[in-house]
Amino acid sequence: MSFSRRQTSTERVRYSASPVAGERSHDAATGNVRPQHGESEEPVTSNVGQNYPYTSETDADRAATIARLVSERDGLAATLSSESTPLDGHDRWWVWKCPTKGCPGLLHAAGYAADKHAVFVVCDGTCGKTYLR
Ligand SMILES: [Zn+2]
Repeated sequence: MSFSRRQTSTERVRYSASPVAGERSHDAATGNVRPQHGESEEPVTSNVGQNYPYTSETDADRAATIARLVSERDGLAATLSSESTPLDGHDRWWVWKCPTKGCPGLLHAAGYAADKHAVFVVCDGTCGKTYLR
């Protein structure tokens, strides 16, 4: 009689322990959902489409880069003055990846295109080209 009672109490402990473990693993699974959701917003940055901005820079950084490029490249100042008009006072400007094959440069805003429907940008890389964005 005493032998069969002991078996019953052992089974009861095991039975009640199992739902607790199940609840814990459920909580852990719920906690994992948030980091995965945050990562799903990243592809916008890493998906570098040629017409989408790559990053942005302050107007001071932009002006310094353009001033350096103008001083390094013959004819760039003339190109900018004949094909573009000065930018107005934005705090930040977009920076694009240069679309030239093999050129690691970035495109910096230098002015507005003469018709003002595009931003006149200059590559700071090896190709040294200008584009409209
Ligand atoms: Zn380039």
